[in-house]
Amino acid sequence: MKKLDYLVVGAGLFGATVANQAKRAGHSVLVLDKRPHIGGNVYTENVEGIQVHRYGAHIFHTNSREVWNFINRFAEFNRFTNSPVANYHGELYSLPFNMYTFNRMWGVVTPAEAEAKIAEQRRAAGITDPKNLEEQAISLVGKDIYEKLIKGYTEKQWGRPCTELPAFIIKRLPVRFTFDNNYFNALYQGIPIGGYTAMVGRMLDGVEVQLNTDYLKEKSRWDAIAEKIIYTGPIDAYFDYRLGTLQYRSVRFETEVLDMQNFQGNAAVNYTDRETPWTRIIEHKWFEFGTQPKTVISREYSSEWKPGDEPYYPVNDEKNNALYAQYKKLAEEEKNVIFGGRLGEYKYYDMDAVLEAALKLSAKEFGSCRG
Ligand code: UDP
Repeated sequence: MKKLDYLVVGAGLFGATVANQAKRAGHSVLVLDKRPHIGGNVYTENVEGIQVHRYGAHIFHTNSREVWNFINRFAEFNRFTNSPVANYHGELYSLPFNMYTFNRMWGVVTPAEAEAKIAEQRRAAGITDPKNLEEQAISLVGKDIYEKLIKGYTEKQWGRPCTELPAFIIKRLPVRFTFDNNYFNALYQGIPIGGYTAMVGRMLDGVEVQLNTDYLKEKSRWDAIAEKIIYTGPIDAYFDYRLGTLQYRSVRFETEVLDMQNFQGNAAVNYTDRETPWTRIIEHKWFEFGTQPKTVISREYSSEWKPGDEPYYPVNDEKNNALYAQYKKLAEEEKNVIFGGRLGEYKYYDMDAVLEAALKLSAKEFGSCRG
């Protein structure tokens, strides 16, 4: 008999959910995280009374009632609706792509006119079966929107030409022929009042957590004390990169406190031209309708991940997915270890999908979802 039933590596959303459910089911569980705080990349911290999303903006949205009910046990959510604005050399456009965007781009007024314009540009480009992000984008919204609102942003974000990126990345964004600036097609949406860190803290209520602890540095010692490991770190790091490194995009944030009430009038402004070095600026107070006298902004710079950086986005192109498939085979042979989350499964997961996967795994491991 080992000391612990479960050792959870990583105190992000996946790890916190599984730890919560393990504890509820009466198992002994310990959570490790190498950072000095819980929450993984959803971590928020209070600066000037404003909840700052230290690792990038996180807007919770889901279509799953089960996920929504589950997460609402740990926080009350506000009614924030994500409506980013695109800034292309000083021209402002509404996102996601909708009638406001089409009107500003082409002067079209009706949905029929907008559809006709897009169809004309799709025909001119001669795309029937889109094979990459560029072709997919042009076929969804036409060449003008692709060139002003997608190409520059995407190439900065991913550091690769749009012709070498998978089409699914752009399918994340809705295209609507209505006047609706809501970025998400989700039934439920909002930001936890009081911040994500407090929410994850409640998920981990009563669970032992050890921070500043790098599992991989003393793997055999940790493995010896737990029957099962739930590992949410990078899958390639787990195997000491023995098949090669998977590629990730990393993000650097330049955060400033400004002595003004309102910097940009919106939580997110995307800089969609190629020349501006940052991809977007987040003004954190607008996630919570802030009334503070000051404001906090973060400029986001995207870069290729290298060892020592924080990995944020898996690059799910063919080459990386093929390498991941090989790592997954190794993972399946690993007795008593379960891999989960954005890094453990090398998947561009949204928060709700992470929760759904973690609840599914928990149901399998510990019986049905527990409150
Ligand atoms: N995208 C774009 N222009 C924008 C916003 C998004 O071209 O103004 C594309 C870009 O390729 C990006 C993808 O859509 O990587 C997904 O955007 P999303 O906002 O969902 O990304 P996240 O918030 O996860 O970084």
